[in-house]
Amino acid sequence: MIRIYNTLSRTKEDFVPLEEGKVRMYVCGPTVYNFIHIGNARPMIVFDTVRRYLEHKGYDVNFVSNFTDVDDKIIRKANEEGVSAEEISQRYIEECKKDMEGMNIKPATTHPLATQEIDGMIDMIAQLIDKGYAYPVNGTVYYRTRKFHDYGKLSHKNLDDLEGGKRSLLVSGEDEKEDPLDFVLWKPKKDGEPYWESPWGQGRPGWHIECSVMSKKYLGEQIDIHGGGEDLVFPHHENEIAQSEACCGKVFSKYWMHNAFLNIDNRKMSKSLGNFFTVREVSEKYDLQVLRFFMLNAHYRSPLNFSAELMESSKSALERIQTAVDNLKYIGEHASAQEMTEEETLKAEEAKKFEEDFDASMDDDFNTADAIAAVFDLVKYANTNASESSSREFASTLCGMIQGLCDVLGLITEKKEILLDAEVEHLIQERQEARKAKNFARADEIRALLLEKGIILEDTREGVKWKRA
Ligand code: AMP
Ligand code: ZN
Repeated sequence: MIRIYNTLSRTKEDFVPLEEGKVRMYVCGPTVYNFIHIGNARPMIVFDTVRRYLEHKGYDVNFVSNFTDVDDKIIRKANEEGVSAEEISQRYIEECKKDMEGMNIKPATTHPLATQEIDGMIDMIAQLIDKGYAYPVNGTVYYRTRKFHDYGKLSHKNLDDLEGGKRSLLVSGEDEKEDPLDFVLWKPKKDGEPYWESPWGQGRPGWHIECSVMSKKYLGEQIDIHGGGEDLVFPHHENEIAQSEACCGKVFSKYWMHNAFLNIDNRKMSKSLGNFFTVREVSEKYDLQVLRFFMLNAHYRSPLNFSAELMESSKSALERIQTAVDNLKYIGEHASAQEMTEEETLKAEEAKKFEEDFDASMDDDFNTADAIAAVFDLVKYANTNASESSSREFASTLCGMIQGLCDVLGLITEKKEILLDAEVEHLIQERQEARKAKNFARADEIRALLLEKGIILEDTREGVKWKRA
């Protein structure tokens, strides 16, 4: 039985889906105004792993994750570059998808875009107004927070505490609100901003309504799991609950899962502190499998610290698994005996206990750290029990077990060599020297070698420039 820590109840609960054998899951996706940073990568990796494990257990998972493609930050970036907001969001959605592929994150069943779902948002806002949960004032529509009696049930806040802290909740247009706790569902257009027609005038939706609408459209009125980073609990997810439950009159999501934050060298990641890394930057130094391994080596509800040392140890740990797989393949290919001996059959049977340990760890609120420990126990078992005298079947059985568990975690067991920046520079230097010596064959060979590793060279007047494909 899978148990999930539910932010709603603050306890681990047995996982019982709404419909047998099926899971409906929604994860809040990134706002696309730049390359994603390694903090954004954490929920992506965590919830992709949750999905993979549920699939491994036989569930049919409908996984929806949006891209927020209309937002102040996108508009600001578009104005800075003098291009449209759409151009910015399209560009960074494409870049985000490349990073996701590098981290071996499966594409969602559906990746809706907020800007393509405006009609649904207008519809839900109109329903909330009809039901008395929302009201328009001068082109802005507000949610009437106090009317929703369960408000605060996810973040375990009560309205009076919030009222006390209302200063921080006030936003522009506060005086138009009936109550400082009310939040925006629709805002009127400002000059130079994208806008849509609505019954309340031209404008654009608030952020919270996007997820309620996209979740309802692609998964239905009730879902099993809703996920995101812990910063989203309040107000984003609290507001999603208020909107969806007031609109549909049903419990919105059964389980709410939140990953803890990723810090850098024990400090909060921020651009101003200069300790900010994009996934793309990490990919220039490491295969992104290493980043995935690093993230899964901690429990998703524990804060995680990113540092060069931890990445290096993740790299060598992942290599230990990859080396064991390589060895087992080698043994299998060169074995003289084909079928397992009786002793090997017993050993293969015994090794199943590591698979059971793996599942037991994952059943316990997706404890990937312990699940990885079970993979290492299996690797150690394989290293001590398989040798050149083993049968092909024994080697391939153990190899299949390791690969099977890694696959549930989304870890690829094939080694992928990536070139570090310094190695690229070195090869370019060598190519320049070859050209000077009129050894064009060698120069072409180096260019081809670099291309094979995804490095594109460009000969310019200022010298050779290179980029990663
Ligand atoms: P955003 O684009 O800011 O809406 O963030 C997208 C997702 O990344 C959300 O689920 C956030 O909670 C999550 N997130 C942002 N920063 C971090 C971080 N440093 N550590 C973990 N998750 C984060
Ligand atoms: Zn959301």
